[in-house]
Amino acid sequence: MAASSTFCRLNFLPKPPLFRALNFYAHQFRPKWTLPNSSLHNNSLLARVHSSRASILTSTKLCNQTQNVEDDLIVLGIETSCDDTAAAVVRSNGEILSQVVSSQADLLAKYGGVAPKMAEEAHSQAIDQVVQEALDKASLTEKDLSAVAVTIGPGLSLCLRVGVQKARRIAGGFNLPIIGIHHMEAHALVARLIERDLQFPFMALLISGGHNLLILARDLGQYIQLGTTIDDAIGEAYDKTAKWLGLDMRRSGGPAIEELAREGNAESVNFSIPMKQHKDCNFSYAGLKTQVRLAIESKKIDAKIPISSASAEDRVSRADIAASFQRVAVLHLEERCQRAIQWALKMEPSIRYLVVSGGVASNQYVRARLDMVVKKNGLQLLCPPPRLCTDNGVMIAWTGIEHFRMGRYDPPPPAEDPEDFVYDLRPRWPLGEEYAEGRSEARSLRRARIHPSLTSMIQASLQQ
Ligand code: ADP
Ligand code: MG
Repeated sequence: MAASSTFCRLNFLPKPPLFRALNFYAHQFRPKWTLPNSSLHNNSLLARVHSSRASILTSTKLCNQTQNVEDDLIVLGIETSCDDTAAAVVRSNGEILSQVVSSQADLLAKYGGVAPKMAEEAHSQAIDQVVQEALDKASLTEKDLSAVAVTIGPGLSLCLRVGVQKARRIAGGFNLPIIGIHHMEAHALVARLIERDLQFPFMALLISGGHNLLILARDLGQYIQLGTTIDDAIGEAYDKTAKWLGLDMRRSGGPAIEELAREGNAESVNFSIPMKQHKDCNFSYAGLKTQVRLAIESKKIDAKIPISSASAEDRVSRADIAASFQRVAVLHLEERCQRAIQWALKMEPSIRYLVVSGGVASNQYVRARLDMVVKKNGLQLLCPPPRLCTDNGVMIAWTGIEHFRMGRYDPPPPAEDPEDFVYDLRPRWPLGEEYAEGRSEARSLRRARIHPSLTSMIQASLQQ
Protein backbone atom coordinates (compact mmCIF):
# COMPACT_ATOMS: atom_id res chain seq x y z
CA MET A 1 0.00 0.00 0.00
CA ALA A 2 1.49 3.36 -0.96
CA ALA A 3 2.11 5.65 1.97
CA SER A 4 0.52 9.06 2.03
CA SER A 5 3.92 10.62 2.24
CA THR A 6 2.96 14.00 0.93
CA PHE A 7 -0.01 14.59 3.12
CA CYS A 8 1.65 13.11 6.19
CA ARG A 9 4.12 15.93 6.03
CA LEU A 10 1.58 18.69 5.62
CA ASN A 11 2.37 21.46 8.04
CA PHE A 12 5.55 19.71 9.10
CA LEU A 13 8.16 21.13 6.83
CA PRO A 14 10.97 23.25 8.29
CA LYS A 15 9.42 26.01 10.21
CA PRO A 16 9.68 29.77 10.50
CA PRO A 17 11.32 32.20 10.21
CA LEU A 18 10.18 32.81 6.69
CA PHE A 19 13.65 33.10 5.20
CA ARG A 20 14.30 29.49 6.17
CA ALA A 21 11.18 28.44 4.38
CA LEU A 22 12.04 30.44 1.31
CA ASN A 23 15.56 29.18 1.31
CA PHE A 24 14.37 25.64 1.76
CA TYR A 25 11.96 26.09 -1.06
CA ALA A 26 14.58 27.46 -3.37
CA HIS A 27 17.22 24.83 -2.67
CA GLN A 28 15.19 21.70 -2.09
CA PHE A 29 12.73 21.84 -4.87
CA ARG A 30 14.50 23.73 -7.60
CA PRO A 31 16.11 20.68 -9.23
CA LYS A 32 12.94 18.58 -9.44
CA TRP A 33 10.44 21.28 -9.88
CA THR A 34 10.40 23.91 -12.55
CA LEU A 35 8.22 26.88 -11.99
CA PRO A 36 5.35 27.55 -14.32
CA ASN A 37 6.22 30.42 -16.59
CA SER A 38 3.22 32.42 -15.60
CA SER A 39 4.32 32.32 -11.98
CA LEU A 40 7.50 34.00 -13.05
CA HIS A 41 5.46 36.37 -15.08
CA ASN A 42 3.30 37.05 -12.04
CA ASN A 43 6.27 37.81 -9.89
CA SER A 44 4.95 35.24 -7.43
CA LEU A 45 6.64 34.11 -4.24
CA LEU A 46 8.31 31.19 -5.92
CA ALA A 47 9.51 33.28 -8.78
CA ARG A 48 11.04 35.72 -6.36
CA VAL A 49 12.66 32.98 -4.37
CA HIS A 50 14.40 31.68 -7.43
CA SER A 51 15.39 34.99 -8.87
CA SER A 52 16.96 36.10 -5.61
CA ARG A 53 18.67 32.97 -4.39
CA ALA A 54 22.00 34.67 -4.00
CA SER A 55 20.74 37.33 -1.65
CA ILE A 56 18.13 35.50 0.33
CA LEU A 57 20.27 34.81 3.36
CA THR A 58 20.84 38.44 4.20
CA SER A 59 18.18 39.38 6.65
CA THR A 60 17.86 43.06 5.72
CA LYS A 61 17.09 42.21 2.15
CA LEU A 62 14.83 39.47 3.34
CA CYS A 63 12.60 41.82 5.28
CA ASN A 64 11.96 43.99 2.27
CA GLN A 65 11.56 41.02 0.09
CA THR A 66 9.16 39.33 2.48
CA GLN A 67 6.96 42.36 2.35
CA ASN A 68 6.79 42.24 -1.44
CA VAL A 69 6.54 38.51 -1.56
CA GLU A 70 3.52 38.42 0.71
CA ASP A 71 1.60 40.72 -1.57
CA ASP A 72 2.12 38.46 -4.52
CA LEU A 73 0.72 35.10 -3.45
CA ILE A 74 -2.40 33.83 -5.17
CA VAL A 75 -3.93 30.78 -3.50
CA LEU A 76 -6.81 28.53 -4.50
CA GLY A 77 -8.80 27.25 -1.49
CA ILE A 78 -10.95 24.11 -1.68
CA GLU A 79 -13.49 23.06 0.95
CA THR A 80 -15.55 19.85 0.96
CA SER A 81 -15.59 18.81 4.64
CA CYS A 82 -19.35 18.61 5.04
CA ASP A 83 -22.21 19.58 2.76
CA ASP A 84 -20.88 22.57 0.83
CA THR A 85 -18.59 22.27 -2.17
CA ALA A 86 -16.64 25.52 -2.14
CA ALA A 87 -13.66 27.07 -3.88
CA ALA A 88 -12.15 30.54 -3.91
CA VAL A 89 -9.10 32.39 -5.11
CA VAL A 90 -7.53 34.85 -2.69
CA ARG A 91 -4.52 37.12 -2.94
CA SER A 92 -2.19 37.51 0.01
CA ASN A 93 -3.03 41.22 0.24
CA GLY A 94 -6.53 40.09 1.27
CA GLU A 95 -8.21 40.61 -2.07
CA ILE A 96 -10.89 37.98 -2.72
CA LEU A 97 -10.61 37.30 -6.45
CA SER A 98 -13.49 34.84 -6.54
CA GLN A 99 -15.75 32.78 -4.33
CA VAL A 100 -18.02 29.92 -5.40
CA VAL A 101 -20.20 27.71 -3.18
CA SER A 102 -22.43 24.88 -4.32
CA SER A 103 -24.60 23.94 -1.38
CA GLN A 104 -26.41 20.67 -0.84
CA ALA A 105 -29.43 22.40 0.66
CA ASP A 106 -31.81 20.23 -1.37
CA LEU A 107 -30.31 17.07 0.11
CA LEU A 108 -30.40 18.61 3.57
CA ALA A 109 -34.05 19.52 3.14
CA LYS A 110 -34.86 16.02 1.90
CA TYR A 111 -33.02 14.03 4.57
CA GLY A 112 -33.04 16.57 7.42
CA GLY A 113 -29.29 16.05 7.87
CA VAL A 114 -26.10 15.22 6.02
CA ALA A 115 -25.94 11.66 4.66
CA PRO A 116 -22.21 11.01 4.03
CA LYS A 117 -22.52 8.83 0.94
CA MET A 118 -24.92 11.21 -0.76
CA ALA A 119 -22.88 14.21 0.27
CA GLU A 120 -19.80 12.56 -1.25
CA GLU A 121 -21.63 12.00 -4.53
CA ALA A 122 -22.85 15.57 -4.60
CA HIS A 123 -19.29 16.84 -3.98
CA SER A 124 -17.92 14.61 -6.73
CA GLN A 125 -20.49 15.94 -9.17
CA ALA A 126 -19.88 19.57 -8.27
CA ILE A 127 -16.16 19.85 -7.57
CA ASP A 128 -14.76 20.29 -11.09
CA GLN A 129 -17.30 22.92 -12.00
CA VAL A 130 -16.96 24.80 -8.72
CA VAL A 131 -13.16 25.02 -9.01
CA GLN A 132 -13.34 25.97 -12.68
CA GLU A 133 -15.86 28.70 -11.91
CA ALA A 134 -13.63 30.04 -9.14
CA LEU A 135 -10.71 30.27 -11.56
CA ASP A 136 -12.85 31.78 -14.32
CA LYS A 137 -14.35 34.40 -12.03
CA ALA A 138 -10.84 35.36 -10.94
CA SER A 139 -9.83 35.49 -14.64
CA LEU A 140 -6.97 33.13 -13.91
CA THR A 141 -5.82 29.65 -14.82
CA GLU A 142 -4.09 27.10 -12.60
CA LYS A 143 -0.77 28.33 -13.96
CA ASP A 144 -1.25 31.67 -12.23
CA LEU A 145 -1.57 30.13 -8.77
CA SER A 146 1.15 30.15 -6.12
CA ALA A 147 -0.30 27.24 -4.10
CA VAL A 148 -3.43 25.17 -3.43
CA ALA A 149 -4.96 24.97 0.06
CA VAL A 150 -7.46 22.27 0.97
CA THR A 151 -9.39 21.19 4.06
CA ILE A 152 -8.01 17.88 5.39
CA GLY A 153 -10.15 17.77 8.57
CA PRO A 154 -12.17 17.72 10.66
CA GLY A 155 -15.16 16.54 8.65
CA LEU A 156 -16.59 13.53 6.88
CA SER A 157 -13.82 11.36 5.41
CA LEU A 158 -15.76 10.57 2.26
CA CYS A 159 -16.34 14.25 1.63
CA LEU A 160 -12.85 15.44 2.58
CA ARG A 161 -11.40 12.95 0.12
CA VAL A 162 -13.16 14.60 -2.84
CA GLY A 163 -11.57 17.98 -2.12
CA VAL A 164 -8.14 16.54 -1.37
CA GLN A 165 -8.10 14.50 -4.57
CA LYS A 166 -9.01 17.56 -6.60
CA ALA A 167 -6.40 19.71 -4.85
CA ARG A 168 -3.69 17.10 -5.43
CA ARG A 169 -4.62 16.75 -9.07
CA ILE A 170 -4.23 20.48 -9.61
CA ALA A 171 -1.09 20.79 -7.49
CA GLY A 172 0.47 17.74 -9.16
CA GLY A 173 -0.49 18.83 -12.66
CA PHE A 174 0.78 22.39 -12.27
CA ASN A 175 3.75 21.88 -9.95
CA LEU A 176 2.21 23.78 -7.07
CA PRO A 177 2.83 23.46 -3.34
CA ILE A 178 -0.13 22.28 -1.32
CA ILE A 179 -1.28 23.27 2.16
CA GLY A 180 -3.51 21.06 4.36
CA ILE A 181 -6.00 23.12 6.35
CA HIS A 182 -7.87 22.62 9.61
CA HIS A 183 -11.46 23.62 8.89
CA MET A 184 -12.07 25.21 12.30
CA GLU A 185 -8.83 27.18 12.25
CA ALA A 186 -9.99 28.57 8.91
CA HIS A 187 -13.33 29.67 10.42
CA ALA A 188 -11.36 31.63 13.03
CA LEU A 189 -8.60 33.04 10.82
CA VAL A 190 -10.90 34.39 8.13
CA ALA A 191 -11.56 37.19 10.63
CA ARG A 192 -7.95 38.34 10.05
CA LEU A 193 -8.74 38.74 6.38
CA ILE A 194 -11.67 41.00 7.23
CA GLU A 195 -10.02 42.92 10.04
CA ARG A 196 -6.33 43.46 9.41
CA ASP A 197 -6.04 44.93 12.89
CA LEU A 198 -6.83 41.55 14.46
CA GLN A 199 -3.57 40.42 16.05
CA PHE A 200 -2.88 37.38 18.21
CA PRO A 201 -3.86 36.68 20.92
CA PHE A 202 -7.62 36.73 20.42
CA MET A 203 -10.59 34.56 21.36
CA ALA A 204 -12.95 32.79 19.02
CA LEU A 205 -16.35 31.17 19.36
CA LEU A 206 -16.91 28.88 16.38
CA ILE A 207 -20.50 27.78 15.96
CA SER A 208 -21.80 25.67 13.10
CA GLY A 209 -23.80 22.55 12.35
CA GLY A 210 -21.04 20.22 13.46
CA HIS A 211 -18.97 22.27 15.89
CA ASN A 212 -19.23 24.38 19.01
CA LEU A 213 -15.80 25.54 19.97
CA LEU A 214 -14.40 28.22 22.25
CA ILE A 215 -10.71 28.87 21.73
CA LEU A 216 -7.91 31.15 22.74
CA ALA A 217 -5.77 31.80 19.65
CA ARG A 218 -2.31 32.64 20.99
CA ASP A 219 -0.51 32.58 17.68
CA LEU A 220 -0.83 31.05 14.23
CA GLY A 221 -1.30 27.31 14.82
CA GLN A 222 -1.25 27.76 18.63
CA TYR A 223 -4.68 27.31 20.16
CA ILE A 224 -6.05 26.49 23.57
CA GLN A 225 -9.44 24.84 23.58
CA LEU A 226 -11.49 26.45 26.32
CA GLY A 227 -14.67 24.53 25.57
CA THR A 228 -16.35 22.28 23.07
CA THR A 229 -19.62 20.42 22.78
CA ILE A 230 -20.11 17.17 24.65
CA ASP A 231 -22.83 16.11 22.21
CA ASP A 232 -24.53 18.23 19.52
CA ALA A 233 -23.57 21.63 18.16
CA ILE A 234 -25.93 24.61 18.19
CA GLY A 235 -26.44 24.53 14.38
CA GLU A 236 -27.67 20.94 14.62
CA ALA A 237 -30.22 22.07 17.22
CA TYR A 238 -31.38 24.90 14.92
CA ASP A 239 -31.68 22.46 12.00
CA LYS A 240 -33.66 19.83 13.92
CA THR A 241 -35.95 22.44 15.50
CA ALA A 242 -36.67 23.84 12.03
CA LYS A 243 -37.37 20.40 10.64
CA TRP A 244 -39.75 19.48 13.47
CA LEU A 245 -41.55 22.82 13.09
CA GLY A 246 -42.14 22.13 9.40
CA LEU A 247 -40.03 25.08 8.21
CA ASP A 248 -38.52 25.54 4.78
CA MET A 249 -35.05 23.99 5.08
CA ARG A 250 -33.77 25.01 1.67
CA ARG A 251 -31.48 27.65 3.17
CA SER A 252 -30.76 25.29 6.15
CA GLY A 253 -32.70 25.43 9.41
CA GLY A 254 -30.91 28.35 11.06
CA PRO A 255 -32.17 31.21 8.89
CA ALA A 256 -35.73 29.77 8.97
CA ILE A 257 -35.76 29.70 12.79
CA GLU A 258 -34.23 33.17 13.01
CA GLU A 259 -36.97 34.55 10.80
CA LEU A 260 -39.88 32.80 12.51
CA ALA A 261 -38.54 33.62 15.99
CA ARG A 262 -39.10 37.34 15.26
CA GLU A 263 -42.86 36.68 15.35
CA GLY A 264 -42.82 34.66 18.57
CA ASN A 265 -42.76 35.26 22.32
CA ALA A 266 -39.35 34.09 23.56
CA GLU A 267 -40.61 33.75 27.15
CA SER A 268 -43.60 31.58 26.30
CA VAL A 269 -41.99 28.14 26.58
CA ASN A 270 -39.81 27.57 29.60
CA PHE A 271 -36.85 25.58 28.28
CA SER A 272 -34.05 25.09 30.75
CA ILE A 273 -30.52 26.32 30.02
CA PRO A 274 -28.13 23.39 29.42
CA MET A 275 -25.28 22.51 31.81
CA LYS A 276 -26.02 25.25 34.33
CA GLN A 277 -24.45 23.18 37.12
CA HIS A 278 -21.18 22.66 35.16
CA LYS A 279 -18.97 25.65 35.81
CA ASP A 280 -16.89 25.14 32.67
CA CYS A 281 -17.05 26.33 29.06
CA ASN A 282 -18.33 23.17 27.40
CA PHE A 283 -21.62 23.00 25.55
CA SER A 284 -24.49 20.58 25.20
CA TYR A 285 -27.47 20.88 22.86
CA ALA A 286 -28.84 17.33 22.86
CA GLY A 287 -31.01 17.95 25.95
CA LEU A 288 -32.42 21.19 24.54
CA LYS A 289 -33.30 19.35 21.33
CA THR A 290 -35.28 16.83 23.37
CA GLN A 291 -37.06 19.61 25.27
CA VAL A 292 -38.02 21.21 21.96
CA ARG A 293 -39.28 17.93 20.52
CA LEU A 294 -41.46 17.33 23.58
CA ALA A 295 -42.87 20.87 23.41
CA ILE A 296 -43.70 20.38 19.73
CA GLU A 297 -45.43 17.09 20.48
CA SER A 298 -47.42 18.58 23.36
CA LYS A 299 -48.69 21.38 21.09
CA LYS A 300 -49.64 18.75 18.48
CA ILE A 301 -47.67 20.50 15.76
CA ASP A 302 -47.50 18.39 12.62
CA ALA A 303 -44.22 18.89 10.73
CA LYS A 304 -45.81 17.44 7.61
CA ILE A 305 -47.97 20.56 7.39
CA PRO A 306 -45.55 23.21 6.14
CA ILE A 307 -45.59 26.48 8.05
CA SER A 308 -46.96 28.22 4.95
CA SER A 309 -50.17 26.13 5.24
CA ALA A 310 -50.50 26.28 9.03
CA SER A 311 -53.51 27.95 10.71
CA ALA A 312 -52.95 31.29 12.42
CA GLU A 313 -53.04 29.65 15.84
CA ASP A 314 -50.66 26.90 14.80
CA ARG A 315 -48.27 29.46 13.37
CA VAL A 316 -48.23 31.37 16.68
CA SER A 317 -47.39 28.12 18.55
CA ARG A 318 -44.54 27.38 16.16
CA ALA A 319 -43.18 30.92 16.36
CA ASP A 320 -43.29 30.81 20.17
CA ILE A 321 -41.29 27.59 20.22
CA ALA A 322 -38.78 28.96 17.70
CA ALA A 323 -38.27 32.14 19.74
CA SER A 324 -38.06 30.30 23.08
CA PHE A 325 -35.61 27.77 21.66
CA GLN A 326 -33.42 30.50 20.21
CA ARG A 327 -33.39 32.48 23.44
CA VAL A 328 -32.19 29.53 25.51
CA ALA A 329 -29.77 28.20 22.87
CA VAL A 330 -28.10 31.60 22.80
CA LEU A 331 -28.22 32.07 26.60
CA HIS A 332 -26.08 28.93 26.77
CA LEU A 333 -23.56 30.58 24.43
CA GLU A 334 -23.63 33.80 26.45
CA GLU A 335 -22.97 32.05 29.74
CA ARG A 336 -20.06 30.02 28.34
CA CYS A 337 -18.53 33.06 26.61
CA GLN A 338 -18.68 35.09 29.81
CA ARG A 339 -16.69 32.43 31.68
CA ALA A 340 -14.30 31.81 28.78
CA ILE A 341 -13.45 35.52 28.60
CA GLN A 342 -12.46 35.45 32.29
CA TRP A 343 -10.28 32.38 31.75
CA ALA A 344 -8.66 33.75 28.62
CA LEU A 345 -7.92 37.18 30.12
CA LYS A 346 -6.10 35.45 32.99
CA MET A 347 -3.78 33.82 30.45
CA GLU A 348 -3.55 36.69 27.96
CA PRO A 349 -4.57 40.05 29.43
CA SER A 350 -3.91 41.81 26.10
CA ILE A 351 -6.86 40.17 24.31
CA ARG A 352 -9.10 42.72 22.58
CA TYR A 353 -11.39 40.68 20.36
CA LEU A 354 -13.83 37.81 20.44
CA VAL A 355 -14.29 36.47 16.93
CA VAL A 356 -17.60 34.72 16.31
CA SER A 357 -17.65 32.64 13.14
CA GLY A 358 -19.21 29.50 11.61
CA GLY A 359 -22.67 29.31 10.05
CA VAL A 360 -24.64 30.21 13.21
CA ALA A 361 -22.63 33.44 13.52
CA SER A 362 -24.69 34.78 10.59
CA ASN A 363 -27.61 35.08 12.99
CA GLN A 364 -28.39 38.68 13.99
CA TYR A 365 -29.88 37.74 17.36
CA VAL A 366 -26.77 35.69 18.21
CA ARG A 367 -24.56 38.62 17.24
CA ALA A 368 -26.55 41.17 19.24
CA ARG A 369 -26.61 39.06 22.41
CA LEU A 370 -22.92 38.19 22.23
CA ASP A 371 -22.07 41.80 21.55
CA MET A 372 -23.52 42.69 24.96
CA VAL A 373 -21.42 40.04 26.71
CA VAL A 374 -18.28 41.12 24.95
CA LYS A 375 -18.80 44.84 25.61
CA LYS A 376 -19.50 44.19 29.29
CA ASN A 377 -16.00 42.71 29.45
CA GLY A 378 -14.34 45.58 27.62
CA LEU A 379 -13.73 43.57 24.42
CA GLN A 380 -14.94 43.93 20.84
CA LEU A 381 -17.01 41.46 18.85
CA LEU A 382 -15.78 40.58 15.40
CA CYS A 383 -18.04 38.62 13.05
CA PRO A 384 -17.13 37.98 9.41
CA PRO A 385 -19.92 38.77 6.93
CA PRO A 386 -22.44 35.89 6.66
CA ARG A 387 -21.05 34.54 3.37
CA LEU A 388 -17.69 34.07 5.14
CA CYS A 389 -19.30 32.61 8.28
CA THR A 390 -20.86 29.60 6.56
CA ASP A 391 -18.48 27.13 4.91
CA ASN A 392 -16.53 28.74 2.10
CA GLY A 393 -13.31 28.48 0.10
CA VAL A 394 -12.07 31.96 1.01
CA MET A 395 -11.30 30.98 4.59
CA ILE A 396 -9.36 27.93 3.34
CA ALA A 397 -7.32 29.96 0.85
CA TRP A 398 -6.61 32.64 3.45
CA THR A 399 -5.51 30.15 6.12
CA GLY A 400 -3.32 28.57 3.44
CA ILE A 401 -1.70 31.95 2.85
CA GLU A 402 -1.09 32.43 6.57
CA HIS A 403 0.63 29.03 6.91
CA PHE A 404 2.48 29.28 3.62
CA ARG A 405 4.09 32.50 4.78
CA MET A 406 5.38 30.58 7.80
CA GLY A 407 6.83 27.82 5.67
CA ARG A 408 4.13 25.27 6.43
CA TYR A 409 3.25 23.62 3.16
CA ASP A 410 3.99 20.51 1.20
CA PRO A 411 5.85 20.25 -2.10
CA PRO A 412 3.93 19.45 -5.29
CA PRO A 413 2.57 15.91 -5.30
CA PRO A 414 3.18 13.63 -8.29
CA ALA A 415 1.04 14.36 -11.32
CA GLU A 416 -0.91 11.14 -10.67
CA ASP A 417 -1.43 9.46 -7.30
CA PRO A 418 -1.10 5.67 -7.35
CA GLU A 419 -4.44 3.90 -7.23
CA ASP A 420 -3.86 2.53 -3.71
CA PHE A 421 -2.71 5.89 -2.35
CA VAL A 422 -3.84 6.45 1.23
CA TYR A 423 -4.85 10.02 1.88
CA ASP A 424 -4.07 11.54 5.25
CA LEU A 425 -7.56 12.74 6.14
CA ARG A 426 -8.30 13.84 9.68
CA PRO A 427 -12.03 13.46 10.32
CA ARG A 428 -11.71 13.98 14.09
CA TRP A 429 -8.95 16.46 14.57
CA PRO A 430 -8.88 18.78 17.59
CA LEU A 431 -7.61 22.29 17.01
CA GLY A 432 -5.87 22.85 20.33
CA GLU A 433 -5.02 21.33 23.64
CA GLU A 434 -7.73 21.40 26.27
CA TYR A 435 -7.50 24.07 28.95
CA ALA A 436 -6.91 22.14 32.17
CA GLU A 437 -9.71 23.88 34.11
CA GLY A 438 -12.10 23.21 31.27
CA ARG A 439 -11.75 19.45 31.17
CA SER A 440 -15.03 17.62 31.31
CA GLU A 441 -15.52 14.04 32.42
CA ALA A 442 -18.22 13.61 29.83
CA ARG A 443 -15.85 14.53 27.03
CA SER A 444 -12.97 12.36 28.07
CA LEU A 445 -15.18 9.35 27.38
CA ARG A 446 -15.33 10.24 23.70
CA ARG A 447 -11.64 10.35 22.82
CA ALA A 448 -11.29 7.26 20.65
CA ARG A 449 -9.69 7.63 17.21
CA ILE A 450 -8.81 11.31 17.50
CA HIS A 451 -5.76 12.75 15.76
CA PRO A 452 -3.25 14.75 17.80
CA SER A 453 -4.33 18.37 17.78
CA LEU A 454 -3.05 20.80 15.14
CA THR A 455 -1.38 22.80 17.92
CA SER A 456 0.52 19.81 19.33
CA MET A 457 1.66 18.80 15.83
CA ILE A 458 2.97 22.27 15.12
CA GLN A 459 4.67 22.50 18.52
CA ALA A 460 6.35 19.13 17.99
CA SER A 461 7.62 20.17 14.58
CA LEU A 462 8.94 23.48 15.97
CA GLN A 463 11.03 21.56 18.49
CA GLN A 464 12.66 19.36 15.86
P1 ADP B 1 -21.02 23.10 8.92
O1 ADP B 1 -22.04 23.02 9.96
O2 ADP B 1 -21.24 22.20 7.79
O3 ADP B 1 -19.62 23.15 9.37
P2 ADP B 1 -21.45 25.94 8.34
O4 ADP B 1 -20.32 26.58 9.04
O5 ADP B 1 -21.75 26.38 6.96
O6 ADP B 1 -21.26 24.41 8.13
O7 ADP B 1 -22.76 26.09 9.25
C1 ADP B 1 -23.98 25.60 8.88
C2 ADP B 1 -24.89 25.70 10.07
O8 ADP B 1 -25.14 27.08 10.35
C3 ADP B 1 -26.23 25.03 9.88
O9 ADP B 1 -26.53 24.27 11.02
C4 ADP B 1 -27.21 26.22 9.77
O10 ADP B 1 -28.50 25.95 10.26
C5 ADP B 1 -26.51 27.26 10.62
N1 ADP B 1 -26.93 28.61 10.26
C6 ADP B 1 -26.76 29.25 9.09
N2 ADP B 1 -27.35 30.48 9.12
C7 ADP B 1 -27.90 30.58 10.36
C8 ADP B 1 -28.67 31.60 11.02
N3 ADP B 1 -28.99 32.74 10.41
N4 ADP B 1 -29.08 31.35 12.30
C9 ADP B 1 -28.75 30.21 12.92
N5 ADP B 1 -28.05 29.21 12.35
C10 ADP B 1 -27.63 29.40 11.08
MG1 MG C 1 -18.21 24.90 9.07
